[in-house]
Amino acid sequence: MAKDVVEFITDPRFVRRRHERKTIDAMVRMYCRGHGHERPDGAPTCADCGALREYAMRRLERCVFGDAKPACSNCVVHCYRADMRERVREVMRWSGPRMLLRHPVLAVRHLISERRPAPSLPKRARRDPAKAAAPHGPRD
Ligand SMILES: [Zn+2]
Repeated sequence: MAKDVVEFITDPRFVRRRHERKTIDAMVRMYCRGHGHERPDGAPTCADCGALREYAMRRLERCVFGDAKPACSNCVVHCYRADMRERVREVMRWSGPRMLLRHPVLAVRHLISERRPAPSLPKRARRDPAKAAAPHGPRD
């Protein structure tokens, strides 16, 4: 575990997504706590929010842009399943303003990344955007 963290930090290619992982993690936890969801002992979130968090992490890991990844809200690829997209947007809407108080560094980084223009699709992905965006399909 500790070893993974060191690798993330020392490999600049992974820095951006590492920040995004932390951001989504903090936002989902905040949302879950703030809504008084019932959490099993010691769990950071309830089961539902935990599933959303896992889903978001998977999409992040499999992002076709890799570390050229734009902010998801800017992205031309819609890799989220419709229901998950709605849920994550709700979390962002609720937690976004609160992030500035609780996690100002992450929040500001996120705001900056939202101003970066989205890159165009990598060549391979452009041929079949649907497949490239969701290699594991809406069924996983
Ligand atoms: Zn919850």
